[in-house]
Amino acid sequence: MAAIILDGNKIAAEIRAEVAAEVKSLAGAGVRPGLAVVLVGNNAASEIYVRGKVKSCEELGIYSEKHTPPDTVSTSELLRLVEDLNRRDEIDGILVQLPLPPQVDSKKILMAVDPAKDVDGFHPVNVGFLSTQRPGLVPCTPAGIIEILKRSHIPIAGQEAVVVGRSDIVGKPTAMLLINGNATVTVCHSKTRDLPGVCRRADILIAAIGRAGMVTRDFVKPGATVIDVGINKVTDPAEFQRLFAGNAKREETFRSKGSTLVGDVHPEVAEVAGAITPVPGGVGPLTIAMLMVNTLRAMKLRRAAEIPALSKA
Ligand code: NDP
Repeated sequence: MAAIILDGNKIAAEIRAEVAAEVKSLAGAGVRPGLAVVLVGNNAASEIYVRGKVKSCEELGIYSEKHTPPDTVSTSELLRLVEDLNRRDEIDGILVQLPLPPQVDSKKILMAVDPAKDVDGFHPVNVGFLSTQRPGLVPCTPAGIIEILKRSHIPIAGQEAVVVGRSDIVGKPTAMLLINGNATVTVCHSKTRDLPGVCRRADILIAAIGRAGMVTRDFVKPGATVIDVGINKVTDPAEFQRLFAGNAKREETFRSKGSTLVGDVHPEVAEVAGAITPVPGGVGPLTIAMLMVNTLRAMKLRRAAEIPALSKA
């Protein structure tokens, strides 16, 4: 039987509507969350991501501002900008779009962001809060994965979860959230022995690898839930055939655009899995939605004491 498709666009729209409603009610009490995005240089992909984030703020009633230092910026100049944003009370969230140019010490910049405003959830203080189950800011993509599971009524507690990928941005925080949700979690990586065999144990399989269609049907227990985090651009015709042979719609896109997007999971897995996220339209839309959630959350955590309206929000 074909898998249920977990529609990330629909779930993200639900979350965005909830955030917009809360922002509206807070506006009545005279408070508005604010996000500052720092985009260094002219990286085309980063510009697209940042545009999406700023647009999303506008749609949801969140204040946003964009800072665009040139790609010649030094670490100390960027540190001054971050420190200025740290000090401004109306800014609840600071997002420094990665990658930064090579002359900039990225770790130093990310460490300088006030953990209370770290809406990416990458600061070691927030990593610590997550691993010790204290209130903090959780990285957006992993938080989005959990929302997909919860809102699709897929149980987490007591389930065998396998996460392929151990990056600080996706794999590790996703594993931590699943542990906090009482799943039994295995984390795999490039040195894992018998990867398909380990993955076949999973009731919930998370693929965050960055390799087009690597997870094939022999990795998947029939009926398992498969969350495909990967976003890979396929341009090679032979690779396209391996993944999408016989898919007329994809063939049309590939012919006209010369490329198509695929996750880390081979499309054939939809024939074995019980539920699966598509690419595009699965995990991707949740990432920006959870950034909006985090901006609102950062405001609530940081300003609760000073603004009485927030303690009721
Ligand atoms: P990284 O490159 O940082 O991490 C990839 C992980 O996969 C590493 O832990 C690596 O293992 C592991 N890996 C690589 N090759 C293999 C292999 N052959 N077998 C087993 N494990 C392997 O990637 P990210 O975590 O940043 O991103 C993963 C994917 O998710 C990418 O496609 C990225 O584009 C996508 N992504 C999507 C987002 C979204 O909004 N949908 C957001 C963020 C990322 P090792 O540690 O041993 O090297």
